[in-house]
Amino acid sequence: MVLAGFQKTSLIDYPGILAAVVFLPYCNFRCPWCHNGNLVLPASVAEASLLPIQIINEHLKKRRSVLEGVVITGGEPTLTRELPEMIQYYKMLGYKVKLDTNGSRPEVLEYIFARETTRPDYIALDLKLAPHRYPEIGGNEESIKKSSIIIQESGIAHEYRTIVLPQGYLTEQDIKIIAQLVDEKSPWYFSPFKPGTCLDSTWNSFTEPAVEEIVHLTEIALSHGKTAYLRGIKNKTCQAKP
Ligand code: SF4
Repeated sequence: MVLAGFQKTSLIDYPGILAAVVFLPYCNFRCPWCHNGNLVLPASVAEASLLPIQIINEHLKKRRSVLEGVVITGGEPTLTRELPEMIQYYKMLGYKVKLDTNGSRPEVLEYIFARETTRPDYIALDLKLAPHRYPEIGGNEESIKKSSIIIQESGIAHEYRTIVLPQGYLTEQDIKIIAQLVDEKSPWYFSPFKPGTCLDSTWNSFTEPAVEEIVHLTEIALSHGKTAYLRGIKNKTCQAKP
């Protein structure tokens, strides 16, 4: 088995925890704004220098005195057949495990949550558009709805993440509908779209949405009783619900 990337240390990917980050290849979505094209497209993955997992696992075995957690991200990690074994191995080493997911494979979440040995300690669920718009990015409405319910019912600590897209692509109405998938206690982070290395190069000509727009959408989430925050905007905060 191979990884598409490895970051030895991160202070920002796992809340409150010093973690290593492993990147798994391939994704079943095609978000035009995606910055991980090298992890998503099979042709790019085929050209990339992939890392044998054994080398990374050996490294993680030696770093237990320094690191506290491992973040498994992608691409979309639930596409990797060996995901349960990976989680089990990192937990066995004593790490806390965070899983990032686009919510497209609820059956995998159900499977790994059902066993203590493969249950992640923290989940980040991306909520990209209103569920009925998921076919625009290669997903489907039912899967994202089901995943959000499974995550909420799992009792596992989790967060939601939404990128505010350019050209008004993510609308006020989207946020109102997405809010139905979000529980009130878990943080819901709103961050700005960034042009530069988008999967669909036409998106590189779009500018970052105005801060006012990001604040506005975040405030809609707050007005629906959610614990919403801004992320990735310097010197700007939005009052989350206590
Ligand atoms: S789900 Fe994430 S990794 Fe996959 S295409 Fe969308 S942004 Fe990229």
